[in-house]
Amino acid sequence: MSFLLTHLGGEETVTGSCHLLRVTCGPTILVDCGLAMGDDRVVPFSEWPVSPDDIDYLFITHAHIDHIGRVPDLIDAGFSGEILCSHPTKALIIPMLHDAMGFSKRSKDAVRRMERSIDELSWGFEYQRSFRLKRGVRFKLGRAGHILGSAFILFTLPGEGDPTRILFSGDLGCAGSPLLCDPDPPDACDLLIMESTYGDRNHEDRSDRIQSLERVLGRALADGGKVLIPAFSLGRTQELIYEIDRILSAGRAVEVGDRGGPGSSLGRIPVFVDSPLGLQITQIYGSLSEFWDEEAKDLLAGGDHPLDFKNLFSVLSYRDHRHALAVPGPVIIIAGSGMCSGGRIIDYLEAGLGDAKNDIVFVGYQARGTLGRDILRYGPRKNGYARIKGEKVYIQADVHKLGGYSAHADQNALLGWVEVMPEKPGRIKLVHGERRARLGLQRALEARQYTVVSDGHVSFLTPSTKGDV
Ligand SMILES: [Zn+2]
Repeated sequence: MSFLLTHLGGEETVTGSCHLLRVTCGPTILVDCGLAMGDDRVVPFSEWPVSPDDIDYLFITHAHIDHIGRVPDLIDAGFSGEILCSHPTKALIIPMLHDAMGFSKRSKDAVRRMERSIDELSWGFEYQRSFRLKRGVRFKLGRAGHILGSAFILFTLPGEGDPTRILFSGDLGCAGSPLLCDPDPPDACDLLIMESTYGDRNHEDRSDRIQSLERVLGRALADGGKVLIPAFSLGRTQELIYEIDRILSAGRAVEVGDRGGPGSSLGRIPVFVDSPLGLQITQIYGSLSEFWDEEAKDLLAGGDHPLDFKNLFSVLSYRDHRHALAVPGPVIIIAGSGMCSGGRIIDYLEAGLGDAKNDIVFVGYQARGTLGRDILRYGPRKNGYARIKGEKVYIQADVHKLGGYSAHADQNALLGWVEVMPEKPGRIKLVHGERRARLGLQRALEARQYTVVSDGHVSFLTPSTKGDV
């Protein structure tokens, strides 16, 4: 079977993932249908080479909005095929899209109808089991270690000789992430479509990431200021709760100075999660314990719920949000959105960026054109400022970036993941990365004798013979 792969988003950017796989005389498959953020762009439906109602299957690698955000619009545009993903992803997509649709022009009834449609169309599947699609095409999900439910997807197309194998990495995480099982080793494939978010760099050593967080929090709170942590509602928020719980329950009393009160330690500092979606997702994470890693399961079995602790406070209503804004430091605030492109973190930044006692701690990727990217870029500079709600806000707060908290594999981890394949992939196409990151990973792969292709949107028309793939 031959196929044609077209990138409809996220080929050269970190958001807006959407890849179209057309199998000749076989099914038409879409892998992800994400929203572009910041300055990133996606191909509009009107310019797609197929009509959405001709797509048989939509595979979802994971439930981040930059991978699923356009699913409601895709359904509105006529898609009525099956949506396939892992079981945890199935549990996460509707709450994630419900929140996203809240910002659209849809009425409450229309949102409910759309949720019903998504629920009826979508199916959860087990990891590491092979399933059959139309015309003998098969697929298998592997754990990607990026967020709960994240998967890489192997498609196997039957042919006269050997089958053709196409592997989509989705977003790949790092080994040792809280709650998550490590990424599974990938199967052999003829074509690998691989993410490259951090393809040109390596994170700080992950083994001491808790200590890094602990140090930053201790220092940041020593003067009684606030620590603001912009975090994706899905993934980062749960990992931060987990890690802060570990810091507190390990009994390591980091001194936080006079303003923290008598016997000051991190354990006495309130932690606010100001994100209704983040809290809802945390509950869902809690209900999916069968998909956690062994460490988290052991904690639960021992009576310590890894996603709950004494000084953790939920901020749900808007009224509580206004109160939380006025709470004096020392306090730790976790709020969305992760790239500060919206959400309640904006109010905290508006009120807190100009105060030198405060600290902003970034734990995730900041796309071009987002407020988060501006704060990271201009925060450390003299007279640096960011625009919030149209106004200039000078950045006096300290700005930190904890690379060890990235949800994405770094260059070494990406190379390591490819190198454990039973055989070298025929070709690798790098996507989901800015130019420098893609080129950095391409060079590193080529230095190891891998074949990397980097051209164009319509990339592969292949005959059925494996040698020509
Ligand atoms: Zn993601």
